[in-house]
Amino acid sequence: MAAEDHHASLEVGMIGNEGMAGISVFMGVNRSRTLALVQGAGTALRMKSAALRKEADHVGSFHRLLHRYTHSLLTQMSLSSACNRFHTLNSRLARWLLMTHDRIGTDEFRLTQDFMSNMLGVRREGVNKVAGDLQKKKLIKYSRGHIEILDRPGLEKASCTCYGIIREDSDRSLRG
Ligand SMILES: [Zn+2]
Repeated sequence: MAAEDHHASLEVGMIGNEGMAGISVFMGVNRSRTLALVQGAGTALRMKSAALRKEADHVGSFHRLLHRYTHSLLTQMSLSSACNRFHTLNSRLARWLLMTHDRIGTDEFRLTQDFMSNMLGVRREGVNKVAGDLQKKKLIKYSRGHIEILDRPGLEKASCTCYGIIREDSDRSLRG
């Protein structure tokens, strides 16, 4: 998910196989100020918003799950926002790669420099520098938009504490 002004966009949240895009429909809002961008190849399920509303109107397990998912997404967005303000670029990139790894489920994936630049809110040169730093430590392999996670525990050590907090909250919320 990204927020945009006329010149640039910044990632504000990440959605993978644990969740869904368009939670605003569940909250009774037809339009959202954020944009959903597909980051990696894969499959996804889609349903009409009217069908989602109809199902979610019944206070049952689906309704409760959507509430818990909304909570976990809000937690992720709030912590990411604080993280972007207070933590170093290296630790933020490590956090972001870990979150992507969790949601994409493979050790290798493609990410363009432009995408990472928007995601981290820095210029492309900044992206190259931090990705290069993680590569020197042999935590990832990075070449022309191709990323491979080499050392997941090492990447967890390189990340700020935000990753663990977001992960723990998401696991707990979605377990119910
Ligand atoms: Zn952080």
